[in-house]
Amino acid sequence: MSERESKKTIKEISPIDVYKLLPKTNCQECGEANCMAFATKVVNGELEVDNCPPVTKDEYRVNFTKLEDLMAPPVRTILVGTGEHAMKMGGKYVLYRHEFTYHHPTPIAIDVSDDLSEEERSARVRAIAEFSYNYIGRELRLDAIAIRSTQHDPAAFASAVTAVAGQTDLPLILCTYDAAIMAAGLAHIRERRPLLYAATKDNWKEMAELALRYACPLVVSAPHDIALLRSLVKTLVAYGVTDLVLDPGTAVEPGLSGTIHAFSQIRRAVFADGDDLLGYPLLGTPITAWLSPEISHELIQWKEA
Ligand code: SF4
Repeated sequence: MSERESKKTIKEISPIDVYKLLPKTNCQECGEANCMAFATKVVNGELEVDNCPPVTKDEYRVNFTKLEDLMAPPVRTILVGTGEHAMKMGGKYVLYRHEFTYHHPTPIAIDVSDDLSEEERSARVRAIAEFSYNYIGRELRLDAIAIRSTQHDPAAFASAVTAVAGQTDLPLILCTYDAAIMAAGLAHIRERRPLLYAATKDNWKEMAELALRYACPLVVSAPHDIALLRSLVKTLVAYGVTDLVLDPGTAVEPGLSGTIHAFSQIRRAVFADGDDLLGYPLLGTPITAWLSPEISHELIQWKEA
């Protein structure tokens, strides 16, 4: 039996399990009436363990570690960005949304390429940062900006990254398969903890070095090859990179069904088979649809809307 299989699922964890490991002082620093109320909210996914300030102190380190282990979701939570604008990816406890309260909705990022003029780039970043959509009383906003290297030039990428970072506090995703270009962009925003896209079978070591040097999360990309994706994760974890996001590929030909099937296959491997190596957030790149020469008329209408 694997460690993951022997671990309690979220539905098996009771508030008492959490309560036993808390300081039990009812100090209310967490904003709750008492430790039991806090424990109940943690189990329901409304609060996280580190929302209890006392338990994060040195004297409770052992209990804090046990609490983190107890509440660790099968799909790890990966933090991109810092401060109030940081976004959380993953953190999933169940295979199906209806099985548990829905937390950490899928973040959406829009791309900006480094071949845009300063004026075009600035306008696009402004539009992304200011976008909002009212959906049944909820104000939905975009979560991040992906900066793509399309000129394949370190200086051009660094310039675009610096300009975008200076214009917005949104989390950033740096996109290039070239480690030298990635390093040029990263050097200017090392404190922003961007998501690096992406490590592949050809560049994983160079990208791993950057992820470790700058303490950034890293996307692992192996389009349409889950076995390779898993193998790359194993290699990167052994190398010391543990904040990972998986890109199993987004294909528009012959249709998106293959992509959805791959995503489902990975999630089932985590929740049904306890496959720890695939327990990371998944990343899709719907931009592929726009880049396809076969893009349908209906999609173009959406794009232009
Ligand atoms: S801050 Fe921690 S110790 Fe204090 S009441 Fe909340 S859960 Fe209990």
